[in-house]
Amino acid sequence: MSNWTEVDSYLNRTVVQPDAALLAAVDNTRNAGMPAIEVTAGQGKFLMLLARIHQAKRVLEIGTLGGFSTTWLARGLPESGTIDTCEYEPAHAEVARRSLEVAGVGHKVTVHVGAALETLPTLEGPYDLFFIDADKANNPNYLEWAVKLSRPGSVIVLDNVVRGGSVLDENGDEDIQGTRRALELLGSHPRLDATALQTVGSKDWDGFAVAIVN
Ligand code: SAM
Repeated sequence: MSNWTEVDSYLNRTVVQPDAALLAAVDNTRNAGMPAIEVTAGQGKFLMLLARIHQAKRVLEIGTLGGFSTTWLARGLPESGTIDTCEYEPAHAEVARRSLEVAGVGHKVTVHVGAALETLPTLEGPYDLFFIDADKANNPNYLEWAVKLSRPGSVIVLDNVVRGGSVLDENGDEDIQGTRRALELLGSHPRLDATALQTVGSKDWDGFAVAIVN
């Protein structure tokens, strides 16, 4: 166990405090043989707090997996708040739906099964908050869609922008290329004002970007 992982455990116990339903969402994901690629509890709670700080009512998530980040986001919304979340794998969507029900937030969430680029044109904006966390090769497309479905003041969070430092690799794989192009877009888009932060913890070395739509 690295020190980073121990510190994450300590912070989870003392500050973040994911409850039984959130821990069950991760357990259900593991038990279904799905990959361990959900956000950390600390990041999940950051999303929940961001939704609360921003007083978000409508959230669009791209990349549901087992519904861990979706549950955190749903908890940051008022009772009337809603989330549209896009997931390619029907089996992932099924696990997510079950976990969201158990967490008591199923009524706030619509899980759209299929390739996000096919779902996105069927959705109607504006959304207050976007969380982009699916196939990284499409990150620039997802960013463009987020801007299209936004309003001035909407917030966009883009996950996994450091990838253990491999974001520096100009000849990296399609995920790295997608992430690099998305970061360039965040830095140059006339309607976006953004930052990107590195993180370290139980998921090793990574990072996320946050943008506001002008
Ligand atoms: N946001 C989740 C969390 O933190 O709990 C983790 C999402 S996981 C990193 C990425 C998910 O995106 C996977 O479940 C994967 O099946 C899904 N995905 C991959 N390609 C996709 C696509 N083209 N459209 C929609 N979902 C996709």
